Amino acid sequence: MLKRYFALLHVKDKTVWEYAQKFLNHKDTRSHNLALMDLGSLVCLPKNPKCEECPLQKTCQGKTEAELYTKTKKKEYESLELFYGICIQNEKIALTPATGNMYKGMLELPAVDPIEEDFLGSFKHAYTKYRLHVKLYTLDSFEDGIWVETKALHSAPISSLTKKALSTVFK
Ligand code: SF4
Repeated sequence: MLKRYFALLHVKDKTVWEYAQKFLNHKDTRSHNLALMDLGSLVCLPKNPKCEECPLQKTCQGKTEAELYTKTKKKEYESLELFYGICIQNEKIALTPATGNMYKGMLELPAVDPIEEDFLGSFKHAYTKYRLHVKLYTLDSFEDGIWVETKALHSAPISSLTKKALSTVFK
């Protein structure tokens, strides 16, 4: 989708990544990334993008030749960064209902803004056409959490991404 939006033809992934970083709303990375994923899966479709319904239509540089940006033999993937917090109190961990279209109806870790000194670890995860680079941070408190006992996590409705996050931290 970003390739279309910025009209990037025949560019390396690194270039797309740089555009994505400039485009990112650093004040609310979570909502930004989820909105992009929703747009990519519902509006800016690989075939027949629904430009007339797209909120980015006015500024999209590739809309007039949107099909150009899908004519690749290789499967198209998009890279996104997501930031989550790990908050544990009294042997319970804070989770929150997933928002957006990703893992709807499941619980996930709370989204955070990244603070380098709280960094715990990172991992890569694939979700539909997205290649996610997930970074985890210590979170001291989380008011609206759904608190789940850490020993009961195996039976909680958590996403594969959240499972991977927890196994990254609690090796
Ligand atoms: S205007 Fe069309 S091509 Fe541009 S981002 Fe929206 S759906 Fe994609």
